Amino acid sequence: MRNERNMNNNKHAAMMERKQDMMQQRRDAGSVATHFPEVATIVMNMTYNQSGSKSILRTFNFTPNSYAFFIVNCLRKDCVDGGFDLTKVITEMIRNRRAVAKGALSCEGTDSSTNHSAIAYKVDIHYT
Ligand SMILES: [Zn+2]
Repeated sequence: MRNERNMNNNKHAAMMERKQDMMQQRRDAGSVATHFPEVATIVMNMTYNQSGSKSILRTFNFTPNSYAFFIVNCLRKDCVDGGFDLTKVITEMIRNRRAVAKGALSCEGTDSSTNHSAIAYKVDIHYT
Protein backbone atom coordinates (compact mmCIF):
# COMPACT_ATOMS: atom_id res chain seq x y z
CA MET A 1 0.00 0.00 0.00
CA ARG A 2 2.69 2.42 1.09
CA ASN A 3 4.85 1.59 -1.90
CA GLU A 4 2.00 2.20 -4.24
CA ARG A 5 1.43 5.65 -2.81
CA ASN A 6 5.11 6.52 -3.14
CA MET A 7 5.07 5.45 -6.72
CA ASN A 8 2.14 7.72 -7.45
CA ASN A 9 3.86 10.63 -5.76
CA ASN A 10 7.00 10.10 -7.76
CA LYS A 11 5.03 9.90 -10.95
CA HIS A 12 3.27 13.13 -10.11
CA ALA A 13 6.54 14.87 -9.26
CA ALA A 14 8.09 13.73 -12.52
CA MET A 15 5.07 15.01 -14.39
CA MET A 16 5.26 18.43 -12.72
CA GLU A 17 8.95 18.58 -13.52
CA ARG A 18 8.30 17.87 -17.17
CA LYS A 19 5.61 20.51 -17.25
CA GLN A 20 8.04 23.04 -15.79
CA ASP A 21 10.74 21.96 -18.22
CA MET A 22 8.34 22.62 -21.02
CA MET A 23 7.45 26.06 -19.68
CA GLN A 24 11.14 26.84 -19.32
CA GLN A 25 11.83 25.61 -22.84
CA ARG A 26 9.04 27.82 -24.05
CA ARG A 27 10.51 30.88 -22.35
CA ASP A 28 13.96 30.01 -23.66
CA ALA A 29 12.68 29.63 -27.19
CA GLY A 30 12.59 33.38 -27.83
CA SER A 31 10.08 35.14 -30.02
CA VAL A 32 8.98 34.27 -33.51
CA ALA A 33 10.29 37.68 -34.63
CA THR A 34 13.78 36.87 -33.32
CA HIS A 35 14.02 33.55 -35.12
CA PHE A 36 11.91 34.21 -38.18
CA PRO A 37 11.74 37.96 -38.90
CA GLU A 38 10.13 37.24 -42.27
CA VAL A 39 7.07 35.63 -40.66
CA ALA A 40 3.89 37.64 -40.09
CA THR A 41 1.62 34.90 -38.74
CA ILE A 42 1.60 31.15 -38.25
CA VAL A 43 -1.68 29.29 -37.84
CA MET A 44 -1.58 25.65 -36.75
CA ASN A 45 -4.82 23.74 -37.13
CA MET A 46 -4.85 20.37 -35.44
CA THR A 47 -7.46 17.69 -35.46
CA TYR A 48 -6.94 15.33 -32.55
CA ASN A 49 -8.17 11.81 -33.01
CA GLN A 50 -8.44 9.73 -29.88
CA SER A 51 -9.69 6.22 -29.89
CA GLY A 52 -13.12 6.04 -28.33
CA SER A 53 -13.86 9.77 -28.32
CA LYS A 54 -14.86 12.46 -30.76
CA SER A 55 -12.13 14.24 -32.66
CA ILE A 56 -11.24 17.69 -31.38
CA LEU A 57 -10.11 20.65 -33.44
CA ARG A 58 -7.60 23.04 -31.93
CA THR A 59 -6.12 26.13 -33.51
CA PHE A 60 -2.92 27.83 -32.42
CA ASN A 61 -2.10 31.32 -33.67
CA PHE A 62 1.39 32.74 -33.57
CA THR A 63 2.35 36.36 -34.13
CA PRO A 64 5.87 37.85 -34.18
CA ASN A 65 5.58 38.39 -30.41
CA SER A 66 4.70 34.74 -29.68
CA TYR A 67 7.23 32.29 -28.34
CA ALA A 68 8.76 30.28 -31.17
CA PHE A 69 7.74 27.05 -29.47
CA PHE A 70 5.80 24.61 -31.56
CA ILE A 71 5.32 21.60 -29.32
CA VAL A 72 1.76 20.65 -28.43
CA ASN A 73 0.62 18.28 -25.69
CA CYS A 74 -1.00 14.93 -26.15
CA LEU A 75 -4.57 14.98 -24.88
CA ARG A 76 -3.97 12.01 -22.61
CA LYS A 77 -3.33 13.83 -19.37
CA ASP A 78 -0.79 11.49 -17.84
CA CYS A 79 1.01 10.94 -21.12
CA VAL A 80 4.73 10.23 -20.57
CA ASP A 81 7.24 11.91 -22.88
CA GLY A 82 4.68 12.38 -25.59
CA GLY A 83 3.28 15.25 -27.56
CA PHE A 84 3.57 16.62 -31.04
CA ASP A 85 6.61 18.53 -32.16
CA LEU A 86 6.01 20.68 -35.20
CA THR A 87 9.27 22.59 -34.88
CA LYS A 88 10.86 20.77 -37.80
CA VAL A 89 7.80 21.11 -40.01
CA ILE A 90 7.62 24.84 -39.38
CA THR A 91 11.32 25.62 -39.69
CA GLU A 92 11.49 23.73 -42.98
CA MET A 93 8.42 25.53 -44.28
CA ILE A 94 9.99 28.89 -43.46
CA ARG A 95 13.32 27.92 -44.97
CA ASN A 96 11.53 27.04 -48.22
CA ARG A 97 9.05 29.91 -47.83
CA ARG A 98 6.15 27.52 -48.10
CA ALA A 99 2.72 28.85 -47.21
CA VAL A 100 0.85 25.62 -46.43
CA ALA A 101 1.79 22.17 -45.18
CA LYS A 102 -0.35 19.23 -44.13
CA GLY A 103 0.48 15.99 -42.43
CA ALA A 104 -0.21 13.62 -39.59
CA LEU A 105 1.60 12.74 -36.39
CA SER A 106 1.15 10.14 -33.68
CA CYS A 107 2.01 10.73 -30.07
CA GLU A 108 5.35 9.19 -29.18
CA GLY A 109 4.48 8.73 -25.53
CA THR A 110 6.43 5.93 -23.93
CA ASP A 111 3.83 4.73 -21.45
CA SER A 112 2.00 1.65 -22.56
CA SER A 113 -1.50 3.13 -22.70
CA THR A 114 -3.25 3.02 -26.00
CA ASN A 115 -5.17 6.25 -25.37
CA HIS A 116 -2.62 8.56 -26.92
CA SER A 117 -3.92 10.94 -29.48
CA ALA A 118 -2.94 11.21 -33.10
CA ILE A 119 -3.27 14.43 -35.02
CA ALA A 120 -3.80 15.64 -38.51
CA TYR A 121 -2.26 19.09 -38.89
CA LYS A 122 -2.42 21.94 -41.33
CA VAL A 123 -0.02 24.83 -40.97
CA ASP A 124 -0.51 28.17 -42.72
CA ILE A 125 2.26 30.72 -42.70
CA HIS A 126 2.00 34.28 -43.89
CA TYR A 127 5.17 36.13 -44.68
CA THR A 128 5.84 39.84 -44.40
ZN1 LIG B 1 0.52 10.67 -25.60
